[in-house]
Amino acid sequence: MNKERLETKTVKHPAVKDVDISDPHGRLKAIADCASAVEIDPNTPPQRYYRSGVEMIRYADMSMKDNDLLHAYHLYVKFITIFVEKIRNHPQFHVVPLKDKQLNQQTLREVMTKAEELKKQLLEQFKAEYEKYLEEVREREKIERERLKKEEQEKLRGEEERKNKLATLAAVRAEKAMSTSVVSSEENKLKKVPSIIPKPLISPSSDIIAQTSKDKFFRRTPTIDRSTKPSVLMSDNHTLRDIVLPTKLMHNFLKLAFTNTMNNKETCGILAGKLERNRLLVTHLLIPEQIGSPDSCLTHNEEDIFDYQDQHNLITLGWIHTHPTQTAFLSSVDLHTHCAYQLMMAEAIAIVCAPKYDETGFFILTPEYGLDFIANCRETGFHPHPAEPSLYTKAKHCKLDVTAMIEVVDLRRK
Ligand SMILES: [Zn+2]
Ligand SMILES: [Zn+2]
Repeated sequence: MNKERLETKTVKHPAVKDVDISDPHGRLKAIADCASAVEIDPNTPPQRYYRSGVEMIRYADMSMKDNDLLHAYHLYVKFITIFVEKIRNHPQFHVVPLKDKQLNQQTLREVMTKAEELKKQLLEQFKAEYEKYLEEVREREKIERERLKKEEQEKLRGEEERKNKLATLAAVRAEKAMSTSVVSSEENKLKKVPSIIPKPLISPSSDIIAQTSKDKFFRRTPTIDRSTKPSVLMSDNHTLRDIVLPTKLMHNFLKLAFTNTMNNKETCGILAGKLERNRLLVTHLLIPEQIGSPDSCLTHNEEDIFDYQDQHNLITLGWIHTHPTQTAFLSSVDLHTHCAYQLMMAEAIAIVCAPKYDETGFFILTPEYGLDFIANCRETGFHPHPAEPSLYTKAKHCKLDVTAMIEVVDLRRK
């Protein structure tokens, strides 16, 4: 599939992971910094960015409805960064139709208001989270203090008992020294005692001192260490939401690809759907106008796909294509095609169906290496990439659902 690709170069941002929960403003800034770290690729037509912008906002609105304010804010800031700053520097900026620019300006105004409002909400949320965290720490410290106090009391009581016992022993011994004539089994027992506890007779045990000072040490530094506050994870960047795929999807796709497959031609399709309760559901399989070859698939009239998605409020969740004679893997061209999807949507997947081998692969570029590597690779057509480390991997966040329905929309002219 040789779709032109959208490249937003991901600039390495300061580790968002390290943001401290005690710093609500810092957390907010970290999200904004991360979201605005996008670069425009001059080789990608600007219209493609405008198209991505539409879906970015659609996804943000879905996130809002799904109560994921953080993710929505991230997307709004990203949108603002691209369309207020970056896109103006695109060498082809002037070719963007006025209609698209005007629509974008209108959206931009709305998004700015929404982002400002969200910022306040998030700040309140972060402050509340920090308060809750502090409360938990205080509660844990209280429990720990009570535990130590109880322990100490028990120790003191034990000490008291021991002292009493020793005093009794001393008294008995003194008595014994005075009357040597008393020989009893009781004395035999007592004779052994000094060898068991010799020191306490002379001085308080140094063990006890050590123990007591240790207690003091523990009291000063409770087990809850405030110096290592938990860092906050930005969910959208570091963990992937599940993508739920109807099992029927692959079967239906292979069925409509059958004639092409028999003629050794690839077929491709777009996976579209929505966000629901923190899961991305693939609800539609859209088949664009296309021309397939044994190892590629070129799409046409993508406007048809966009229109359909706009009308049905769908976001792009990945793509699927056949390998008529080869196994299920991602070629170098596939990797570049997929890069555009994954930069748009971190969860986006590439499915490869290899009917000859009865194989289906669900792939993503490795987020920590492959995505960056491909986004920065300027080669085109089939070209070699380093084999190690692996640029792509199995998409573990794919969940198959045997009961889920899939709507197939074939936009190919018959
Ligand atoms: Zn392929
Ligand atoms: Zn490459």
